[in-house]
Amino acid sequence: MVRGVVPRQPAKTGRHEGSRALPTPGQMKGGSRQAQSGKPSFHQRKSKASPSSSKKPRSKAYNPVAPERINEILNILDATYPDVTCALTHRSAWELLVATILSAQSTDVNVNKVTPIIFQKYPTVQDFAALTPEQLEPDIRSTGFFRNKSKSVVGAARKVVSDFGGEVPDEMDKLLTLPGVARKTANVVLGTWFKKGVGVVVDTHVTRISRRLELTRNGEAPKIEQDLMKVIPPERWILFSHQIIWHGRKLCIARSPKCVECPLERICHAADKTWSTVDIHKNAKP
Ligand code: SF4
Repeated sequence: MVRGVVPRQPAKTGRHEGSRALPTPGQMKGGSRQAQSGKPSFHQRKSKASPSSSKKPRSKAYNPVAPERINEILNILDATYPDVTCALTHRSAWELLVATILSAQSTDVNVNKVTPIIFQKYPTVQDFAALTPEQLEPDIRSTGFFRNKSKSVVGAARKVVSDFGGEVPDEMDKLLTLPGVARKTANVVLGTWFKKGVGVVVDTHVTRISRRLELTRNGEAPKIEQDLMKVIPPERWILFSHQIIWHGRKLCIARSPKCVECPLERICHAADKTWSTVDIHKNAKP
């Protein structure tokens, strides 16, 4: 590159540098002379000469959840994240359930440091059921919110033992009866361990990116999940969840998304993009 020459970058507003709107007929030199002379302009003559032109269908309004756009998003995610799965290490449905409970407000890396130690110390669900929450607290302290998480894990273990014969249930309704288990955790266990796509995992990444991509305008997880379930084909719910979570970790991060590297950039109109070649939609934000 020639020294001192900086490549052109798209503006943050999404407007191409150096581009400008085409002048309207009234703004054109000839147009203003015609207006003064009282003669119809070229555009006025053309519209009179071809009345059928008024019957032409208008260009389609932008629909962020149009099937073609959804397909494009899914294809790009497939190409970018072909084999992704849950990043929480686990060897059973019970271990995945515990890891998912511990992952709230924490990172998978952090949880993966803690779980091997506690599963070595308490190998079975019955071992956890025999604990008091206070006994578990020191072991999971580093994951944050450890008092509530201890209550949830021990409570879930007791319920799994007392109501489900020591086996984590593979149905949404039953999973939701376990302490500390809401749809997000249930969807992780059902999708990742039991391979049942009952819903979409809505965590912090899915919330943020679904809003940036205009797949939802809602802010609460249950409503976001309903919106996603309407537009994402059911057979894609499990993989879509994993792909969006990975996208949130790698590129579409919360504070400063790496839009310049993002394969979704040309179809993303997020208001807080850090680089854009397309229009920005002010409502498309986390
Ligand atoms: S272009 Fe930016 S905001 Fe949009 S999905 Fe990619 S990283 Fe996220």
